[in-house]
Amino acid sequence: MDDQDLKAIRDEVAKLCARFPGEYWRELDRQRAYPMAFVQALTEAGYLGCLIPEEYGGSGLGIREASAILETVHRVGCNGAACHAQMYTMGTVLRHGSEDQKRAFLPGVASGTLRLQAFGVTEPTSGTDTSRIQTTAKLDGDQYIINGQKVWTSRAEHSDLMLLLARTQPRDAGKKPHDGISVFLIDIRDGKDNGLTIKPIRTMLNHSTTEVFFDGLRIPASALVGEEGKGFRYILDGMNAERILIAHECLGDARWFIEKASTYAKERRVFDRPIGQNQGIQFPIAECYAETEAAALMAEKAARLFDLGQPCGAEANMAKMLASEASWHAADVCMQTFGGFAFAEEYDIERKFRETRLYRTAPISTNLILSYIAEHVLGLPRSF
Ligand SMILES: Cc1cc2nc3c(=O)[nH]c(=O)nc-3n(C[C@H](O)[C@H](O)[C@H](O)COP(=O)(O)OP(=O)(O)OC[C@H]3O[C@@H](n4cnc5c(N)ncnc54)[C@H](O)[C@@H]3O)c2cc1C
Repeated sequence: MDDQDLKAIRDEVAKLCARFPGEYWRELDRQRAYPMAFVQALTEAGYLGCLIPEEYGGSGLGIREASAILETVHRVGCNGAACHAQMYTMGTVLRHGSEDQKRAFLPGVASGTLRLQAFGVTEPTSGTDTSRIQTTAKLDGDQYIINGQKVWTSRAEHSDLMLLLARTQPRDAGKKPHDGISVFLIDIRDGKDNGLTIKPIRTMLNHSTTEVFFDGLRIPASALVGEEGKGFRYILDGMNAERILIAHECLGDARWFIEKASTYAKERRVFDRPIGQNQGIQFPIAECYAETEAAALMAEKAARLFDLGQPCGAEANMAKMLASEASWHAADVCMQTFGGFAFAEEYDIERKFRETRLYRTAPISTNLILSYIAEHVLGLPRSF
């Protein structure tokens, strides 16, 4: 798709988002409620199924188009976190699932009748070290029995299906620590009150995140995606997509903050002149602009490589890191530019400030990206 087509997508998404102004998000934030109407609108417009190939009911677009959608959502003040995972979680099934699984699930995910937007990786005791997950899946006849616990499983209450990472072999049984981890596509609807319990976690932002407990949950053996023991490798492929898309959400946030700050700096008069006439106000905003546009170049490079099917681990990681640092810096500068008014809910700045902070920590923290670059790009000794 050329730049003109991407612009057309952005224009359409912005039009849709105009139906969901700040007041809509503020009210949801107060209630910690899920943005049903917004998600429904994106679903009906076909945006959430854009990465699914046409033969499975999606629109077969690339990550550049998906990125343009999410960047726009955030640039105009909305938030894609309630549903962005519906776009990319299916990637593991698409790349590694059987033809039966693809035919059974992908058309429903594409149309939105099936929600696959919960991804259970993180556990309370393992932290970022996924090789130490303790949730187990034990084969028993034609079923697996799942026991364990996940934490921070976002959108589990608003998902029909969950992609779950569980151990089918102990950590020390394989050649490498990540061997013996398998990935399953679980039907949350069947599991509820049947061995699967979801408990919401109230957080500083409205994110519908949860803890999920598995107590003897029985799932059909056909829920296994790909081969047993190779699950960690399968989900790594999907992580690049997630990082590129989230980088674009951060770019959208950063541009929203920069636009707000520069508009306000031109209008607000103190000491008989616009505050934006002072370099102490101008320079931080200009610095954020430069950081954001530099991050955007890396994000664009990562997206292009991804769409060409070329390795893009370093670029996807750097894009996510640079964009999340840029959006956080822009959030802080916007707060400072607005002075006391930034703290009033009605300007949406304090809410967006809380929202964009997440991306320095999740889905992967800045430190872990730096250690990836140090080890895998620069060849420095492994630090852990
Ligand atoms: C709102 C929210 C939504 C989330 N959604 C999901 C989801 O849907 N699914 C899911 O599976 N997970 C989800 N997560 C989890 C998220 O991916 C993790 O919180 C994140 O990866 C960090 O892991 P941790 O919290 O266990 O931190 P820890 O691993 O305990 O790390 C704590 C801090 O120490 C640093 N650190 C750790 N080891 C090192 C090291 N060797 N060198 C330098 N620094 C180090 C980390 O960078 C981090 O800053 C979510 C988290 C949040 C807060």
